[in-house]
Amino acid sequence: MSKQTCNPLTKYYHDKFPKQKQAAPGLQCEMDPVPDCGEKSYQGHQRLEGKKMLVTGGDSGIGRAAAIAYAKEGADVAINYHPDEQKDAEDVAKIIEKAGRKAVLIPGDLSDEAFCKKMVDEAHNKLGGLDNLTLVAGKQTSVADIMDLTTEQIRKTFEINVFSLFWTTKAALGYLKPGSTIITTSSVQAFQPGASLLDYAATKSAIIAFTKGLAKQIASKGIRANIVAPGPVWTPLQICGGQPSDAIPEFGKETPLKRAGQPVELSGVYVHLASSESSYTTAETYGVTGGEHTN
Ligand code: NAD
Ligand code: MG
Repeated sequence: MSKQTCNPLTKYYHDKFPKQKQAAPGLQCEMDPVPDCGEKSYQGHQRLEGKKMLVTGGDSGIGRAAAIAYAKEGADVAINYHPDEQKDAEDVAKIIEKAGRKAVLIPGDLSDEAFCKKMVDEAHNKLGGLDNLTLVAGKQTSVADIMDLTTEQIRKTFEINVFSLFWTTKAALGYLKPGSTIITTSSVQAFQPGASLLDYAATKSAIIAFTKGLAKQIASKGIRANIVAPGPVWTPLQICGGQPSDAIPEFGKETPLKRAGQPVELSGVYVHLASSESSYTTAETYGVTGGEHTN
């Protein structure tokens, strides 16, 4: 790697982003530029050999980066995604299989409690076990004025971002053995809530409280639970209403590192938290924020 590409300011895309908009949940294969989820850039080192992982939101963005890294580290991976995202999901399955691992595709809506249970059972049955839940899926829709924030949106955001964590965890605990891990995905928004993300930021705080309490509850079973808190990362979420369209060109420029992160820049943290390298880490929040702080 050249000296220039090691510089965090310039290592990944750091230009203005072209304005673009898709309907949620969106397809990352249609984004410009296409996010880097480690398809070519992530290299594995057998850190998760033989493990069985379930990743929600595994079709695109941060979840896709985690799923790809897990496979390249030697794990079999089931991914969940919304049925509209089949195209992105099939790409991920191909990459997992190319890494020599088993891919299981489980489309479905996480705001449905019965589906969450079915998803976990299917992941366990098709993978032949379950060692990890990586809960990445999320909804973010910016609304400038609370008077325009509908109860329907508030409810959906909480169902997808928070309720599904309860439902999925309850379904999985019967399968997870000592040494298993749960990883949830919060945000810098839990610590520095934006003015137009009231519902979203509230869910991201709830995820931290849920995960820390859960970690204490399940420590005696030998299961660890930790949180990843990303800063601005170039993913479909942002161009599907997560940011106002006008904010897209400058997205991420406000951070000390002056650019948005790429999903692959979170891969190492998910792998670390899923592997036994982090055996003394639980109830912890790992920020990957370009310098924006998670305290
Ligand atoms: P993304 O759009 O790639 O991922 C979000 C995923 O959520 C979608 O791919 C979709 O599969 C899933 N999803 C949404 N609604 C669903 C539903 N009803 N049923 C099933 N799946 C559903 O975007 P991303 O940025 O990679 O988001 C992943 C996580 O990272 C989210 O929890 C988000 O809050 C968090 N996050 C993102 C950023 C960022 O700047 N991109 C910053 C902080 C936190
Ligand atoms: Mg997606």
